[in-house]
Amino acid sequence: MRNYNTVEKKIAPKRKAQERISDFNPIYRELGDDEAIAQASRCLQCPIDVLRGLNSEFSFCRTGCPLNNKIPLWLRNTYEGNNIGAFEASNEMSPFPEILGRVCPKVGLCESSCVIEKSKFNAVSIGEVEVYLNEKAFDEGAKPDYGSKEGRKHKVAIIGSGPAGMSCATFLLRSGLHVEIFEKADRVGGLLTYGIPNFKLPKNTVQRRFDWMQEAGLKVHTNVEVGKDIKVKELEEKFERIFLAMGAPEGRSANMENEYANGVYHVMEILTKAQKKVFKQNFENSILRDKDVVVIGGGDSAMDALRTAIREGARSVQCVYRRDRQNMPGSQKEVDNAMEEGVEFIFNRQPKRVMVDKEMNVVGIEVLKTELEISKDSKRGSLKVLEDVRMQIPADIIILALGFNNKIFDFYQELGIKLGKFNDILVNEKLQTSNPKIYAGGDVVRGADLVVTAALDGRIAAASIVESLKEV
Ligand SMILES: Cc1cc2nc3c(=O)[nH]c(=O)nc-3n(C[C@H](O)[C@H](O)[C@H](O)COP(=O)(O)OP(=O)(O)OC[C@H]3O[C@@H](n4cnc5c(N)ncnc54)[C@H](O)[C@@H]3O)c2cc1C
Ligand code: SF4
Repeated sequence: MRNYNTVEKKIAPKRKAQERISDFNPIYRELGDDEAIAQASRCLQCPIDVLRGLNSEFSFCRTGCPLNNKIPLWLRNTYEGNNIGAFEASNEMSPFPEILGRVCPKVGLCESSCVIEKSKFNAVSIGEVEVYLNEKAFDEGAKPDYGSKEGRKHKVAIIGSGPAGMSCATFLLRSGLHVEIFEKADRVGGLLTYGIPNFKLPKNTVQRRFDWMQEAGLKVHTNVEVGKDIKVKELEEKFERIFLAMGAPEGRSANMENEYANGVYHVMEILTKAQKKVFKQNFENSILRDKDVVVIGGGDSAMDALRTAIREGARSVQCVYRRDRQNMPGSQKEVDNAMEEGVEFIFNRQPKRVMVDKEMNVVGIEVLKTELEISKDSKRGSLKVLEDVRMQIPADIIILALGFNNKIFDFYQELGIKLGKFNDILVNEKLQTSNPKIYAGGDVVRGADLVVTAALDGRIAAASIVESLKEV
């Protein structure tokens, strides 16, 4: 090991842009055996556990990973060819490492905290090895541990099957509890299934985990919206604890004139429709085909919508963002991917109004120029809008990708749950709400965030629930 200065960092190779825009298949190819072992061999094997707690300024891969994954251990096992050891170590702290290795923005998390990243050599490709070692183990017949179907005790209901619900179910099952998930969509996975596109995360990775959990006794109720198809009081009577994991589903408005015109869509409508087509393998009748599409926003969901529009055969695809490239909120890697695939970016423009014809159909969008004013107080600078400098962009379809807010679910009142100022559920450090039998985590508590933080919340809540039921 410690080959960081003799073996170059390698990330999973991408398919050529021209090829990948003709389908929804993943754009990255997984590392092969030799490549993964070589990448794992770059790890320094820092004595993180020895140094933890000392008054040191150092950060390490494990401190950068919200799950505190045992990264050096599974890198060493991978390097030594101990695939099962690597698999077990990587599944210990993480509910679905092969999914997180694909979707985590490693920059800012584990890889930014890797000691080698601070030298002239680049961080170990942690996410890539994480995907490789798990897929390798699955190919060899390994299955994650979800405990035994028999003899399960206590009853816990989970509302929402996204990463927070899925993670909570994982750790509750491992502790021998009876778990049922209630999901309003027709499929499980939350935004892993109907948000993040298939070209970033193949959906069989999500379903495979649920299949294993169901084998171990998890009960899944899809097409059941809590509050509508089943009363929350009924769940309260039937279950000893409830974990709330409904996400942050309210798309933000652009507050512009004619925002409700025909041809203006919210990003989730577009992404959900696209994924349903991928499931059916039927790509006919796309509303985006041969259309001029403008996406408003600069985050990861905007990049997902842009790249989906390209794949659905739009005539032109443009991104309007109010700041510049350096100040985009999402991953730079995803912006690069979008550019390679043919998306045109219009920076420093803010939407003013949707242009419409007599029937209120979209014909374009008027945008205003913006300028960044750098001040001492704000690193990102404040935005100045130049009302006189207007630009009109012809468009048939406008997609709003401006982020998400929390929703106030009707049943909060029935449960006696207290909310914060952003309609986020208030919880203590155990993720217990103001109702002691109800726990909550993921976006419903944090606001729109990340898969890995939702996974962490699911793990914390599961441990708290198990602890609270010990005396019962
Ligand atoms: C387009 C897009 C792309 C993203 N890309 C990334 C990425 O690449 N990497 C990353 O880390 N993060 C990404 N994120 C963020 C990440 O997906 C979320 O932070 C994460 O999914 C939140 O998990 P969650 O379990 O809290 O909620 P969700 O994933 O939103 O799941 C909530 C679930 O609850 C269900 N539900 C809601 N109400 C009810 C009800 N009343 N009854 C029953 N079920 C209900 C919903 O149908 C849904 O399935 C992305 C988000 C979006 C929108
Ligand atoms: S879960 Fe995410 S942050 Fe943690 S090791 Fe995996 S890729 Fe890195």
